[in-house]
Amino acid sequence: MSPADRLYAVRSRISEAARGSGRNKHDITLIAVSKTHPASAVRQLALEGHTDFGENYLKEAAGKIHELESLSIVWHFIGHIQSNKCSEIAELFDWVHSVDRLKIARRLNDAAGQFGKRLNVLIQVNIDGEASKSGVSPDQVPDMVEAIRGFTHLQLRGLMTIPKPSDDPQQAREPYKRLHDLLDAANSQSASVNGARLDCLSMGMSADLEAAVAEGASHVRIGTALFGPRHYPAEA
Ligand SMILES: *Cc1c(COP(=O)(O)O)cnc(C)c1O
Repeated sequence: MSPADRLYAVRSRISEAARGSGRNKHDITLIAVSKTHPASAVRQLALEGHTDFGENYLKEAAGKIHELESLSIVWHFIGHIQSNKCSEIAELFDWVHSVDRLKIARRLNDAAGQFGKRLNVLIQVNIDGEASKSGVSPDQVPDMVEAIRGFTHLQLRGLMTIPKPSDDPQQAREPYKRLHDLLDAANSQSASVNGARLDCLSMGMSADLEAAVAEGASHVRIGTALFGPRHYPAEA
């Protein structure tokens, strides 16, 4: 399949899933996860009119972002964040989905202020309580929401998660529903007091995007189904 065909196929899956759950497909943003794939692969999709791309590794991403400067791309950082990388992440990216501790939020906020921008951020939630995964635990979400809402250079948009791997993609519906419930709880607790409604749920990957759309995803992060298998681990 050509990149254009793959893009078309993934968009069709999103449309189908949206239709199946009575949602508008335009309420779901497809993020093409281009980690380990070259700038030329990003350019091919961008020339098909695709705008949103996700990257996990700062060093790898920085090269592509500079190389593709002339295209209008919205860049999403979705990888683990080291605190000494916050400034460069704030400079290069429009969205950060993987804020998992207060120190990171504070540093992104300081850096965004220096660059005169307001970063869209999401809190990464370790929804299945896996020892190997980053993310705040579900019970820490209310405090993180309150704290991040206090940062003027961050626009808190919602929550992100990666569920426990499973052979049956439909198994992901349950953790995705729990993430949605956490978002609703955060909105009912503090939206009226402290600012805008959180409107984003970043959930769903190549294998399980249907489950995520059914549970209310606003952003699905799709790598393999768009770019094929990843052949080498990128450097952090
Ligand atoms: C790599 C990655 C994806 C894409 O996964 P695929 O299964 O290839 O679609 C999505 N989200 C995050 C956080 C990732 O690291």
